[in-house]
Amino acid sequence: MHNDISEIYFSEQDLADRVREMGEAITRDYAGVAGSDGIVVISILRGGAVFTCDLIRAIDLPLEVDFMAVSSYGNGVKSSGVVRILKDLNTDIRGRHVIIAEDIIDSGLTLKYLMQNLESRGPASMTVAALMRKNTENQADIPCRYVGFTCPDKFIVGYGLDYAERYRNLPYIGVLKPEIYQ
Ligand code: 5GP
Ligand code: MG
Repeated sequence: MHNDISEIYFSEQDLADRVREMGEAITRDYAGVAGSDGIVVISILRGGAVFTCDLIRAIDLPLEVDFMAVSSYGNGVKSSGVVRILKDLNTDIRGRHVIIAEDIIDSGLTLKYLMQNLESRGPASMTVAALMRKNTENQADIPCRYVGFTCPDKFIVGYGLDYAERYRNLPYIGVLKPEIYQ
């Protein structure tokens, strides 16, 4: 597994430090609005799962976590722009303060679709916490309040991100050697 990585981008420590900061920022920003109902963190499976699990433990407020699964990539490395909901929420988000926890914004098409979909359900507010935002040309204009890192337009894996369902369990984020997917 480790031999398939050409370069480590974000170490285990980088990730832990940054995710803790993001949780602290959310805690500060939502302290006044969370109320007794708390906030709803929506984790986008499967890539966002590892990030979400660390992020929620860094948020010191009442919260619920729910999961949505969408597919936009198949087993390839470029977004097709076609988003399908594979698993929907169990939670009714009407009137709730929602934070979408996503692993990475590339074309932005997945989040664009998801935000429109979730907005139509009438949440009180909705923001995005993305662990990474890629420097991608023509990225959809996504209002993303919390961004962990910006990263170059290279295919990366680890800390939840996969290639063909593998490498999600790497504790760091690294660049996959091109010969693995070429
Ligand atoms: P978008 O719709 O913004 O192009 O892509 C969003 C999804 O594609 C992300 O949630 C993530 O699951 C996947 N993705 C985008 N870039 C990468 C990458 O570099 N590596 C991996 N493993 N997945 C990516
Ligand atoms: Mg994803």
